[in-house]
Amino acid sequence: MKSGKQRQQELKAKRAGQRNNDAAEQSEASRIRAQREAAEGGCMNPEFIAIPRPVEEDYADYVEHPRFGKAPRYTGFDPNPNFPWVSLHWNTGYTSGKALRRLRHFFEFSWIYSSFKDRKPDLVPGTAICADLSRQAQATCHVTHYYDIDHLCVDCGKRFIFFAEEQKHWYEELGFGLESQAVRCPPCRKRQQLLGRARRRYEELFHISPRSVEETLEMANCCLTLVEAGTFPHTQKEHVRVMLKRLPDEAKSLEAFLELSERLGRLGGVG
Ligand SMILES: [Zn+2]
Repeated sequence: MKSGKQRQQELKAKRAGQRNNDAAEQSEASRIRAQREAAEGGCMNPEFIAIPRPVEEDYADYVEHPRFGKAPRYTGFDPNPNFPWVSLHWNTGYTSGKALRRLRHFFEFSWIYSSFKDRKPDLVPGTAICADLSRQAQATCHVTHYYDIDHLCVDCGKRFIFFAEEQKHWYEELGFGLESQAVRCPPCRKRQQLLGRARRRYEELFHISPRSVEETLEMANCCLTLVEAGTFPHTQKEHVRVMLKRLPDEAKSLEAFLELSERLGRLGGVG
C-alpha cells in the first residue's frame, strides 16, 4: 500500500512531467510557426512601415544596370531582422535591435556603439526578396533575404543599385561567397573584367618566344590598354613602341598596327 505522502509525490512528479511536455510542445509549435513564417517571408520590420516606396525620378542620375535599370525594384517586403530566423547580409549596413542591445551591453560609452547606433543602412526599404539557403556557398551565417543596396562606385564615384536579384544570382547561381560584395557599378565592373583579361593574356604572350606578328600586335594592344587604364606605368608605352618598331615592314600597313600607333601617339609616345 502506498502512503498518502508517496501518492502526493507521484502526483507532483506527474504534473511536473506534464508541464514539461506542454512547454516542449509549445516551444516546438512556436519553432514550427517561426520556421513557416520565415519561409513565407517572416513578419514585417516595424521600422520601415511608414517609409514611402522609392520613386523612379530620384534615381535618374544612377548608373543603369543593363537588366534591372536604375531605380530599386519595390517588392513591398521588409522582413523583421529581430525575427529569430531572419538574417540579413552585412552589405545592408543594417544593425538589428537585437545586435544593438548586445553592442550596448559591451560598449555603451564607446564610439563602437554610437557608430552602429547612428549608422544609416545602405538597403532600400521595401525591396527584400527571399533567399534559397540551400544554394548559398558554405558560410558560418547564411543570408535569409536580399535587399536592393544603394552604393557608391569606387572607380567612377557614381551611385548605383546592387539589386537583390543580382545578389541572388551571385550567391546562388554563380557560387560566389557571401563575403563578396559589389563595389563597382556595372560598366566599371565590366571594364575591370576586361582589364583582368588583358593582363592575363599579356602575361601569357610574354612567355611565348618567338612571337608571330599577330601575337606581337595582340601583346602590344594588351599592354597599351593597361597603360591607358593606369594599371601599367606610363613608361611601359616605350615597351610597346619597341615591339611595334621590331615588326617586319609588311606588318606596318596592317590596320591593327596603325590603330596601335595612333593610340600610342595620343599617349605622347612615338608612333
Ligand atoms: Zn563606376
